[in-house]
Amino acid sequence: MDCPGRTHRGEHISRTLQVESRDQVLTAARLVAAGGASLFRGGAYKPRSSPYSFQGLGQEGLRLLAEAKAETGLPIVTELMDARDVEPVLEVADVIQVGARNMQNYALLAEIGRTGRPVLLKRGLSATLEELLMAAEYVLKEGNPNVLLCERGIRTFETAYRFTLDLTAVPVLKELSHLPVVVDPSHAAGRRSLVEPLSLAAAAAGADGIIVEVHPQPDEAICDGPQQLYAAEFAEYAEKVERAAALAGKVLSNMPA
Ligand code: PEP
Ligand code: MN
Repeated sequence: MDCPGRTHRGEHISRTLQVESRDQVLTAARLVAAGGASLFRGGAYKPRSSPYSFQGLGQEGLRLLAEAKAETGLPIVTELMDARDVEPVLEVADVIQVGARNMQNYALLAEIGRTGRPVLLKRGLSATLEELLMAAEYVLKEGNPNVLLCERGIRTFETAYRFTLDLTAVPVLKELSHLPVVVDPSHAAGRRSLVEPLSLAAAAAGADGIIVEVHPQPDEAICDGPQQLYAAEFAEYAEKVERAAALAGKVLSNMPA
């Protein structure tokens, strides 16, 4: 797997947020870099359930991510929602994210496949693992082998929390495929108190990486605030995840700045 900042065995933590303002992005980027993250994930184009919600800063958001990368050296993960935005996204993204709602957007997957850029492919809200793997094939088929599969919670009958994080998916995907498996406890849980226990479980289950949302001031976040960790507490969280990852025989690998 030729993907920036990761090795086959390593456990990676990337910190994520939606890009809201220059101050928010740079503060978060500095704290995450200091706290041991290996990638910095920020959404400039946001897939929102309501068309009236904040949709992201678009190209201005990409510029802020580029600035964060220049300052910290952290590779950038950002979402591409529309193939028409592929060029500006390619300028800054070391890894292109395909969100859960676009997992079966086959034209988009093929387009990203042709770029050759590593892809973080999130599992659809109601997608089976077979469907996730077939979606990954749309990228691989274009000659792009760099796909990371991401479990981010699925719809079940349970309503006590946002989505059911399917941790069985981690070992099962590893049985079925050679692709790295990343877990997103933040979007699954929907609330901060669940993020750490789910992260520890994911790491112990053998996840190759964790993407977790952080914000310098989650209470002021434009979206997803309730699920975001306080950026200042990331380093402590990362240490705990590192210990859980060790149970699965993994070593946390940090990006060279
Ligand atoms: C995200 O990662 O920013 C996001 C909206 O997640 P998902 O596509 O998994 O809902
Ligand atoms: Mn989010």
